[in-house]
Amino acid sequence: MLLQRNMALCSLVLLSVFLFYSCFASPPNFVLLFADDLGFGDLGCYGHPTSLTPNLDRLAAGGLRFTDFYCTSPVCSPSRASLLTGRYQTRSGIYPGVLYPGSIGGLPLNETTIAEVLKPQGYATAAVGKWHLGVGLNGTFLPTKQGFDQYLGIPYSHDMGPCWNLTCFPPDVKCFGSCDIGAVTVPLMHNEVIKQQPVDFLDLERLYSDFATNFITTSAKKKQPFFLYYPSHHTHYPQYAGPHAAGKSLRGPFGDALLEFDNTIGNLLATLEQTGEINNTLIFFTADNGPELMRMSHGGNAGLLKCGKGTTYDGGMREPAIAFWPGTIKPGVTHELASTLDILPTIAKLAGAKLPTVLLDGVEMTDLLINGGTSEREAMMFYPTDPTEMYGLFALRLGKYKAHFYTRGAGHSGTVPDKDCQIFSVLKAHDPPLLFDLESDPSEFYPLFLFEHPELKDVLERIMKVKQQFEATMVFGESQIDKGSNPDLEPCCNPQCSPKPSCCHC
Ligand code: MG
Repeated sequence: MLLQRNMALCSLVLLSVFLFYSCFASPPNFVLLFADDLGFGDLGCYGHPTSLTPNLDRLAAGGLRFTDFYCTSPVCSPSRASLLTGRYQTRSGIYPGVLYPGSIGGLPLNETTIAEVLKPQGYATAAVGKWHLGVGLNGTFLPTKQGFDQYLGIPYSHDMGPCWNLTCFPPDVKCFGSCDIGAVTVPLMHNEVIKQQPVDFLDLERLYSDFATNFITTSAKKKQPFFLYYPSHHTHYPQYAGPHAAGKSLRGPFGDALLEFDNTIGNLLATLEQTGEINNTLIFFTADNGPELMRMSHGGNAGLLKCGKGTTYDGGMREPAIAFWPGTIKPGVTHELASTLDILPTIAKLAGAKLPTVLLDGVEMTDLLINGGTSEREAMMFYPTDPTEMYGLFALRLGKYKAHFYTRGAGHSGTVPDKDCQIFSVLKAHDPPLLFDLESDPSEFYPLFLFEHPELKDVLERIMKVKQQFEATMVFGESQIDKGSNPDLEPCCNPQCSPKPSCCHC
């Protein structure tokens, strides 16, 4: 009798909770911050001694900080494709390398982005910053064609244009670097229209910050749930910073650029507080790929991880990541395995949205975020910058073990003393694979050999099984980057002018 009464009481409580949420709780907002070419060791809250990142540190102190979080590629475009689709870049065809200003291809329109997942739920969506998933003929692949209501930004990397217009503060000082002198100057686009060409980098962050904070304020006023995606350019070479950040960090141009990005994060937090949305917003921060070590002190820092951008060592793809949601996510640190792939399914679950009806590589992590549970992610796959069906995976992490089937250095990671990172370290096959225990050896210094560790035979067998099962599901999409480039497709504010590219100046 007592049991029956308790059960009835329990059902009543559950029903009330359900009714409360269905009647009163508004769907959460999402702010997705994505840094560029930023390494595991670049933030104050990840141990950098001179980075000045007070707002990111605040997110880390009040949120969940990941130690084992991975992006899917050691370069920009493929990593962004995976973030926005929850699928490895090989499926969407964003390989090899990255897209260029005149690229014919882009993220295929039949791929479903996070923004497209949220639109049917009534979300307002905006992207601000570096897109790098294609422009194409008549702006075919711009964010406004991929589920975003609004876009303000440079649609690719800001070194993909001559840097003669890229001045640092004070305004008469040239930034470090020479960039791509044969392309059009870097444009600033608003939706599908060029607003400035060349862009004024010293004022760019103010425009981005105003755009993003206005978007939050307007959505909040309309009581419309929102998704803001801010992929920042800042820490990508050549670094720039306006007057409020230049010379303000102890770390030089990289530190100043990072500080300017961090200042905008502070503005976003203040706006979320002012609008009363802070407790109903999941803020997620991570980065697209590891540091470009070839830029030396102007590149980022992978901390204790091996190598950086361009490589499938952990320095190329393991990133800082922070999830912040006051009152919902408990502050702490997690060592669970997670990835940019998992963000789409997580956001979909929290918004009550339908998942795309395609094979997803992401797994949702709400239990990990909200209840401190375990990640459903068992393994992480590592493709090189130029994946092929012939070679397949370069590496695979299963639990704490990572196996390298191939290793190779990269130009992007040259200049560090470790020879394995340098471009002269040519492709090398490993059979049996080179095995590391990333919990005891996160720097991938000490391979484990079976003759010394016969107990690892089972581990290797499991890794090979997971690899085989995964690769059996992998259908390579048609390469969008191999479609090539056409200089006529480079964004030009004065399309009929001549001679290009110098006449594209408005
Ligand atoms: Mg990048």
